[in-house]
Amino acid sequence: MSDRRQFLKAAGLMTAAAAFWHPRNLFAANTAKKTKVATNKLDLQWENFMGKMKYTFTISGSSRTTTPIVISRITWNGYAGYGEAAMPPYLGETQASVHEFLKKVAENVLPKFDNPFRIEDIMVEVDKLATNNTAAKAAVDIALHDLVGNIIGQPWWKIWGFNPEDAPHTCYTIGYDASDDVVNEKIEEASWTKILKVKLGMTEKEDKRMINLIRAKTNTVICIDANQGWKDKHYALDMVNWLAERNVNMIEQPMPKLLIEETAWLTERSPLPIIADEACQRLTDIPNLKGVYHGINIKLMKCTGMREAREMVSLANALHMKIMVGCMTETSVAISAAAQIAPKVEWADLDGNYLIANDCFDGMKLVDGRITLEDKPGLGLTKKPGIISL
Ligand code: MG
Repeated sequence: MSDRRQFLKAAGLMTAAAAFWHPRNLFAANTAKKTKVATNKLDLQWENFMGKMKYTFTISGSSRTTTPIVISRITWNGYAGYGEAAMPPYLGETQASVHEFLKKVAENVLPKFDNPFRIEDIMVEVDKLATNNTAAKAAVDIALHDLVGNIIGQPWWKIWGFNPEDAPHTCYTIGYDASDDVVNEKIEEASWTKILKVKLGMTEKEDKRMINLIRAKTNTVICIDANQGWKDKHYALDMVNWLAERNVNMIEQPMPKLLIEETAWLTERSPLPIIADEACQRLTDIPNLKGVYHGINIKLMKCTGMREAREMVSLANALHMKIMVGCMTETSVAISAAAQIAPKVEWADLDGNYLIANDCFDGMKLVDGRITLEDKPGLGLTKKPGIISL
């Protein structure tokens, strides 16, 4: 038995090891950011991870209790950086499609580069491999940023020149539930947050029931996400006006993304900011959203990662559009990556790591609900022991 096999057997990790692929002989799982093996080769590895949610997650389209995730790692010259692809099923990517994509990156892109500082050129090549696969691309981008930040010894908010004190409070999602008792329990559990987020877009009765349950207990400001659920512009405006009287501060994706003229009509009349989420995937979408929405929601899993997210911040600023940063159900890896742009956004929805029960990393912390960016290299990640092998 090889040393590696003996190590894995001793650590009880044979089963977990079978779930991750790596191109060549890899040193045993390590926790240190500085690894023992020094090589100029950019080496990409990855491993499946199933995020288990604290509550059944229901939005206007679906319900689920787990989120498939792939954790990635890129090593170079004795350093390591972690990344992540998180894949809510409605977005079309799977762990298998991420594996296939990352294998292409490992075999066809990374061998062309001898250092990770060329994030720009590497990500242009990665992006060209396929039209979509945005979460898989983010797994590469985030790992490269963590790696470069670890090498430099600085966090990305600092490299980008942002003031961490500008980072806002995150909202925290109260998911839909048919039971009043469960909703009340969720409201109580969220008492720490300064901003609640509520997913609407169901029937008028259910939408108003959720808001009324919350307002019976607290006047905490609420962000609304209708997830394209309101199909008629007049109905949508009635709902927005009703919500505006109940200490709601913004509405995310009220109508289907293809109803562009109707959304522009609503935005023109809305007393609350209307923000594009499903309608805004990548940088190139933004110019078409000017005049249709007041702002955009940037999510790393949609936009291929931190590099493009930073560009989206600049473009939205140039177009005088408002900015929100959001997330899928993600571990602290992707949440800490997204948090790096938090100083430049008006609203943050970065509660993904708080919604899962088995986070495999420590990273960005909320202090009284506020995003707190620490002066730690890269994404400021610490791997929790015993959860993943990578
Ligand atoms: Mg949304």
